[in-house]
Amino acid sequence: MIEELRKDFVDSTTQVILADKDSKVIQSDNNILSIPAGNFLTSFHAFFYTITTLFDEKQDENYFPCIRIESLGKTYFFDIKTKINKESGQVGLFLIDLTAHYKSVHQIKQTRNESIIDFNITDELNNELQVQRGFKNKFLANVSHEIRTPLNSIVGFLHVLQNTGLNREQLDLVNIVKSSSDNLTSIVNDLLDISKIEAGRLEIKNKRFNVHQLLDDLVKAHQLLVEEKRITFKFERGESLPRFIVLDQLRLNQILMNLLDNAIKYTKEGSITFSVTTPSKNRRKIPVIFEIKDTGIGIDEDSLHTIFESFTQLEKRGLFGGTGLGLSIVKQLSELMEGTIEVESVKGQGSTFRFIVEAGVSHDQKVDKSVTSRKKKKEDGAKKKYRVLLGEDIEVNQLLMMRIFADHPDYSLDIAKNGEQVLKMLDHYKYDLILMDLMMPIMDGFDATARIRDHKNKTISKIPIVALSARNSPEDIEDSKEAGMNGFLTKPINESELFQTIDKWIHRYKRKNGGVS
Ligand code: ADP
Repeated sequence: MIEELRKDFVDSTTQVILADKDSKVIQSDNNILSIPAGNFLTSFHAFFYTITTLFDEKQDENYFPCIRIESLGKTYFFDIKTKINKESGQVGLFLIDLTAHYKSVHQIKQTRNESIIDFNITDELNNELQVQRGFKNKFLANVSHEIRTPLNSIVGFLHVLQNTGLNREQLDLVNIVKSSSDNLTSIVNDLLDISKIEAGRLEIKNKRFNVHQLLDDLVKAHQLLVEEKRITFKFERGESLPRFIVLDQLRLNQILMNLLDNAIKYTKEGSITFSVTTPSKNRRKIPVIFEIKDTGIGIDEDSLHTIFESFTQLEKRGLFGGTGLGLSIVKQLSELMEGTIEVESVKGQGSTFRFIVEAGVSHDQKVDKSVTSRKKKKEDGAKKKYRVLLGEDIEVNQLLMMRIFADHPDYSLDIAKNGEQVLKMLDHYKYDLILMDLMMPIMDGFDATARIRDHKNKTISKIPIVALSARNSPEDIEDSKEAGMNGFLTKPINESELFQTIDKWIHRYKRKNGGVS
C-alpha cells in the first residue's frame, strides 16, 4: 500500500531521464514532460546546455534549484538534480516538480514587495500631508489674525454708530450688521483655535480654581437662554465634587460652553440635564464626569463618528447656524487635557455628550483666607458694588451698557431681554435699581413696571426704576411716571448723566428704607 502511495507521489512530482554525454536521451519515464528517447535535451530547453558543460568536471552530482521550463503552454518550476556515472559517462537527471511551491513563494515575495512599496508611498503621502497641513495651519492662523483686526474695528465702530442718535429703522439695520459681524467674529475665533491646536501651539495651563463657581456661572447663563425656548434646564452637581480643583479652567469652560450651546441649539422641546459628578473626593486626582443630556433632534448612528471632524454639519447648512467647528475644538481640547469625550444618541430622541477628565484636587478646599480678608477689607473700604438690572431687548444697546458698566467701581450690571425676564430675574436675585427700556417684545417696560409695583414682596415692589427711551416726548415721560417709574433717561445715553441718576435714586431709596442689599 505504502509503496503504491509513494509511487503515485513520485510519479506525479518527479521525472527521471537518462542521457549520454551529448545530452541525447537514452531513456525517460515521461512522468511530467514528454521527451522521447533519441531526442537531444538541448533542443528541448536551453537550460540543458549547462548540463553538458558539466560532464567534464570532477563533480559527480549537481543541484539546480528553481528552473523555469515552459512546455505545451504550461509553466513548470523544477529543482533539477544531475548525477554522472564516471564509468559509462552517462548522466541521470531528476526533475522535481515544485511549481506550486515556487508559485506560492513568489506570491508571498510579491505581496511583501508590494506592501513595502505601499508603505513607502503612504509614508511619502503622510510627509506631504504634514507639509500641507502645516501650510494650511499657518495660512489659517495668519488670515484669521488679519481678518480679526479690521473686524474688531467694524464691531467697535458699530457701537459708536449706535450711540449717535439713530432712529429705530437705522438701529434695526445696524443690528443686522452687528449680528453678522458677531457671527463672523465667532467663526474667525474658532478657526484661530483650530489652527493653533493643529499646529500644537495651544498650551494647557492647569491651575487651581473654584469649579463650583464656574459651573454656577455656566448654569446661570444657559438657564436664561433656555427660558426663551421654554425647555427645562436641570443641573445636578454630585455631592463629592470638591470646590477647588486643578485643571485648565479656560479650556474646560470652552468645552462645556460648546456642548451646552449645542444641546440648546438642537433641542426644540423637553429638557437639558447638565450633571457633574465624581466617584470619589478623597484622592489627589479624581475623574470628573461632565454630562450634558438633551431631548433634541438626535444623531443617527452612521453619522456619530463624523461629528467631531472639522466642518461637519449634519443638518442642512444654515438651518441651525454655526460653523461645524465646535465639536472638533471640543474633541481636540479634550485630548490635549488628556480627557475623553463620548457621545450616545438616538435620532429623534436626543443625545448625551460626556466629557471625562482627571482633575487634581486642591489640598486647600477653603477660599484663601488671607487673600479674601485683604480683598474684603479693600472692598469694604471702597464700598460694595450696587447691582443694576437692565431690561433691554436690543443687543447693541446691551453691549454698549455692558461697556459703560464694565469698569465702574460702584455698579455691576445684569441684563434681561424683556419685561417678563426682568420679573423672573427679580425673583431670583436682589437688585438695587432697574434701568427699563420702554419698548420691548413679549412684555414692554410699562407693563413690567406696573407688575413690579404690584409685587407682594416689598423689597421688589419699591425698587427704583429708571426709564430708558429713544423718545422723550412729554407724553412718554408722563406715561412712565404713571406706570410707576422714578426717573427718565433719553437715548443716546450720556454716561455721567446715567450714573448721576442711578446714584440719586439708589441713595434716595436707601435713605427711605434704611440700607441697600
Ligand atoms: P455646529 O456649529 O454646526 O453646531 P459642531 O461641531 O458643534 O458644529 O457640531 C457638528 C454637528 O453635530 C452639528 O452640525 C449637528 O449636526 C451635530 N450635533 C452636535 N451636537 C448635537 C446635539 N446635541 N444634538 C444633535 N446634533 C448635534
